Amino acid sequence: MVKMYYNEDADLKVLEGKKIAVVGYGSQGHAQAQNMRDAGLDVIVAELEGTSNYEQAVKDGFEPKSAAEAAKEADVIQILLPDEVQKKVYYSDVEPNLEAGNALVFSHGFNIHYGQIVPPADIDVYMVAPKGPGHLVRRVYTEGFGVPALIAIYQDATGNAKDFALAHAKGVGGTRAGVIETTFKEETETDLFGEQAVLCGGTTELVRAGFETLVDAGYQPEIAYFECLHELKLIVDLMYEGGIATMRDSISDTAEYGDLVAGKQVINDKSREAMKKLLTDIQEGEFAKQWLLENQVGRPGYNRKKAIDEDHLIEKVGAELRSKMNYLD
Ligand code: NDP
Ligand code: MG
Ligand code: MG
Repeated sequence: MVKMYYNEDADLKVLEGKKIAVVGYGSQGHAQAQNMRDAGLDVIVAELEGTSNYEQAVKDGFEPKSAAEAAKEADVIQILLPDEVQKKVYYSDVEPNLEAGNALVFSHGFNIHYGQIVPPADIDVYMVAPKGPGHLVRRVYTEGFGVPALIAIYQDATGNAKDFALAHAKGVGGTRAGVIETTFKEETETDLFGEQAVLCGGTTELVRAGFETLVDAGYQPEIAYFECLHELKLIVDLMYEGGIATMRDSISDTAEYGDLVAGKQVINDKSREAMKKLLTDIQEGEFAKQWLLENQVGRPGYNRKKAIDEDHLIEKVGAELRSKMNYLD
């Protein structure tokens, strides 16, 4: 089993007297900044003035600064900007304000691993990546628990980067649930693969394919929506709580037999080959290049593909059905 780090393995004291700047108050920023502040750490926040996230930071009791000001004041600078804007803000606002012995912190390795950000040699560079969306990272922390997290050390200029990373992860709540050490390479490549092949790309296409198959065969779209999208949550919740075996214990034997004989027909050798191709593109930097170029030209592919999917019947049917599910907020 992999080595797990818990509260007793991390000492917040190593960050005492250090100012931590969280640059970007979005999904991860609002969660990690507030958790670390609640843990007693000295946290400042950077946001763009006039944005709703700026107002949110004020509401949450921060006095947001510019990225440049925050980087200048702080000893530990955590970049929680969207991955595609990190390079620009880093070179214009952060790097000119770094001092020897500072730490640069990320929650995803994309910009370091693909060479978009190349930090000076005299600072620590580490990662604290909670394995969950920001709102969960915050909610779970306020309930006294934590979301598991990964840490990784890219550069250890002070000789203490791992102690800082563990303390940082403790501040965010990660050591309450367990922290695993990884590398920037492993985190970046597996994170991209997971969201493309399974969590986001794989799941959304699986849902649409099932929905379309039923609707094309003449079944009512509302029924297809319930069977292929709505009920997915119940199944995923069971897997989340107890793995695939527990989920299978909960479903009927008929459903379980269907699972056993049908799954491998849908996700077959061809699907596995496609997954390997995705992984190769990630490993060789092809996906990163495509995404960076996409951003440079104003996201034509992103915008069109998104618009096409938003126009899909499953979205219209779903919006109507969900409007009557008053328990959803
Ligand atoms: P978000 O887009 O939610 O938040 C980024 C924030 O940065 C926004 O509030 C944005 O403002 C703000 N911002 C943009 N430009 C500037 C600027 N020049 N100066 C100051 N603030 C600026 O990003 P995420 O939280 O999703 O992602 C942050 C990092 O965390 C990424 O590296 C991501 O890969 C990683 N991560 C994200 C997870 C998630 O669940 N979302 C999970 C684990 C890691 P505005 O929106 O107003 O433009
Ligand atoms: Mg990701
Ligand atoms: Mg059923």
